[in-house]
Amino acid sequence: MAGDVEYPSRVMCPLIDEMLSAGDCVAVTDITDGFIKERVLQDRFKEKENWREICEHCENRKYADDEA
Ligand code: SF4
Repeated sequence: MAGDVEYPSRVMCPLIDEMLSAGDCVAVTDITDGFIKERVLQDRFKEKENWREICEHCENRKYADDEA
């Protein structure tokens, strides 16, 4: 079923400056939002000091939120 937003299979993640699968992006946003414990998040996503704010304001969230 087609939605309003085309859902890419991979997105450029500013936390790691690499392409990330859309599924992993959704998982990281669940951690950022507090639904999953932060300690399961790989350290590479937390290397930037303000990683949580970066993720909270990331434009790729529109894809993750669209799936909710
Ligand atoms: S929403 Fe978060 S996990 Fe997804 S690409 Fe952006 S910074 Fe990375």
